[in-house]
Amino acid sequence: MRTAICPGSFDPVTLGHMDIIERTSVIFDQVIVAVSRNPIKNPMFSIEERVEMLREVLSPYSNVAVDSFEGLTVDYAAEQNAVAIVRGLRVISDFENEFRMALVNKTLACRIETLFLMTSAQYSFISSSAIKDVAIFGGPVEGLVSPLVEKRLKEKLKGCYKGKEG
Ligand code: ADP
Repeated sequence: MRTAICPGSFDPVTLGHMDIIERTSVIFDQVIVAVSRNPIKNPMFSIEERVEMLREVLSPYSNVAVDSFEGLTVDYAAEQNAVAIVRGLRVISDFENEFRMALVNKTLACRIETLFLMTSAQYSFISSSAIKDVAIFGGPVEGLVSPLVEKRLKEKLKGCYKGKEG
């Protein structure tokens, strides 16, 4: 059985993430979407909330599981017997970081490959941080995230945004 890991922050999961995960699930027997516990980042949603949202939106995919991990992605991938780490690539600016990370990971664990899937054109501009920026100022995020995530963003931000009426 060939397992791939899709690691990330998923704060929150977007349609861009879901597209990459769905396409990975066609290529591999099993996909583990792994939410990283990164103490340096200051997330909007807790690990538990992010895992729960991912589980809900990915429930139609029978070969996709969701988990969280702490520490090095390659260590987690090895623990899960994964053969690949799959990352999405959007614009050129993603490339430098991803290239560096893939080389570091290859040095740490030479048997685990990093594979990149090119973003789908309609999702190329979507990022979790852009979604949060729009949502914080009360803008529409419909069509960028699933309806469930849209609802969770509204709940999370209730009372934070006063709107034009004050
Ligand atoms: P990280 O903080 O590890 O970059 P993210 O949650 O931002 O975590 O992203 C997880 C993965 O999903 C990364 O490989 C990222 O490039 C990819 N990704 C995020 N948004 C998109 C998108 N719109 N299209 C394709 N891939 C994406």
